[in-house]
Amino acid sequence: MKVTDIHSHFIPREWENLQNKFGGDNWPWMAHKTAAGENLNSHTSSAMLMRGSQEFRPVYSACWDPQIRLDEMDRDGVDKQIISATPILFAYDRPVAQASYCAQLFNDAALEICAKNNKRLFALAQVPLQDIDASCIEVSRAKACGHVGVQIGNHVGEKNMDDKGILTFLQHCASEDIPVFVHPWDMMAADRTKDYMMGWTVGMPAETQLSIVSMILGGGFDHVSEKLKICFAHGGGSFAFLLGRLENAWIHKDIARGHSQHPPSHYLNRFYLDTAVFDHDALALLVKKMGPDRLMFGTDYPFPLGEQQMGQLIKSASELDQQTKQKLLSGNAEQFFNL
Ligand SMILES: [Zn+2]
Repeated sequence: MKVTDIHSHFIPREWENLQNKFGGDNWPWMAHKTAAGENLNSHTSSAMLMRGSQEFRPVYSACWDPQIRLDEMDRDGVDKQIISATPILFAYDRPVAQASYCAQLFNDAALEICAKNNKRLFALAQVPLQDIDASCIEVSRAKACGHVGVQIGNHVGEKNMDDKGILTFLQHCASEDIPVFVHPWDMMAADRTKDYMMGWTVGMPAETQLSIVSMILGGGFDHVSEKLKICFAHGGGSFAFLLGRLENAWIHKDIARGHSQHPPSHYLNRFYLDTAVFDHDALALLVKKMGPDRLMFGTDYPFPLGEQQMGQLIKSASELDQQTKQKLLSGNAEQFFNL
């Protein structure tokens, strides 16, 4: 059975000192160290992804070394992988010229990693989403260079997915057949979720639900072409489980309908979700709500909260038939990303 992972991340091994180049603080950079004593394969090494002087996340060489990535794909039976930047690299809160520079820098770095094996590794671009014109220019440039789609953060400051500018960008992607992957970042209620990794376990799913709901109720799907290919990360966060609550509000309260022409369930055939949910019951709910054609295998590899044995959740799902498993594991992704 073919397997294509649409949700994995890269970080280049190193890049120029952005603080020296642009000034300001809290720029991301990599502090490298050896892997002595760590529970990693002997040929891997580890590093600390830094933000300014703060440690952001420990990472290992699968992030930047394509051979380690390919070895671990072979270990778990993953044929193809789509890599995207770690959201800390987005620079949405910087001046647009700096964010455009970062987008080109990291987009080119992603293609360098994929160049190791162009039949198995594919890249999503990033764009300076705080400026729509610059985003359209960069995403078109990236597509011409070989990127198979674009990853965007699920909001830009206070702007949600129903923002006019963001919808203009999505329309541009639709008209150029550029698939869009929406990843949560810059999580809400940061001061109340700073303990116990609740930013990941609570904040991220809430962010993604907010994005899908704002896209629906803001009339986004009514205005953007049906050609738009858009996928939300982490199984859509809390969306599927709370769809009934959203539908009930839409039916009974004018104010809860926003600008959408139809009830929320009407739009389920307008977007995709990945399968990074780590639970068979959650996966079964997604298949029931979204149908087998709207879900794509994703792992969050190579981060610690990703699927450790890539593909096992779907392969071992006893309630799914073989045809559905093949669609989820690769068939839908091949079509979505034109692989
Ligand atoms: Zn991710």
